[in-house]
Amino acid sequence: MQTPPDRTTGHGWIEVIAGSMFSGKSEELIRRLRRAQIARLKVQVFKPEIDTRYSRQEVVSHSDQRIESERITRATEILERLHADTQVVGIDEAQFLDSDLVEVCERLANNGTRVIVAGLDQDYRGQPFDPVPQLLAKAEYITKTRAICVRCGHPALRSQRTTGSTERVVVGARETYEPRCRACYDDPEGEPSALFGGTGSTPAAGAGNAEPEPDSGA
Ligand SMILES: [Zn+2]
Repeated sequence: MQTPPDRTTGHGWIEVIAGSMFSGKSEELIRRLRRAQIARLKVQVFKPEIDTRYSRQEVVSHSDQRIESERITRATEILERLHADTQVVGIDEAQFLDSDLVEVCERLANNGTRVIVAGLDQDYRGQPFDPVPQLLAKAEYITKTRAICVRCGHPALRSQRTTGSTERVVVGARETYEPRCRACYDDPEGEPSALFGGTGSTPAAGAGNAEPEPDSGA
């Protein structure tokens, strides 16, 4: 893995924007990158080849905001393609990149680059979606975005798959997934809890009517 050139412009850091589908991750990423461009910083944006939903050379949010991007198939390509004067690196759909992304982001930040990464933190089964959890551990700044549960309107952290597929990666939008809160989420495997005697029993009633946290997600 080659080392990016030294940045003389200051200190680098890692920001991670993580959350479920439809929680506004790409929108927030684009907002931050646009502000960096307005501040005349040199910005490069990358996204993995797998996401062909909308555009081949842009990061596009569900609300149709967009920013130019470069398509990559491996995380280390970010270092290979990095321009000498780049000060801010944006990465979308990080969950579709390999585990080298963690070291790539660390190297960029260590060399003075501001790194902004957006990605799903859970897969459709509610399990941590590598390498986003590792990035959360390394990041200076974390933003957890929440969608709105389609069933009850509470903040939603999970992406319910509405098709029968058991592939971990199914790229699709509204016809394939919908946001659900903890209470409304249906575990696709109905996995019993090993920790609590395998009964998968629900906790005592009383927590169910609690108000969600007051701050708004977007
Ligand atoms: Zn709900």
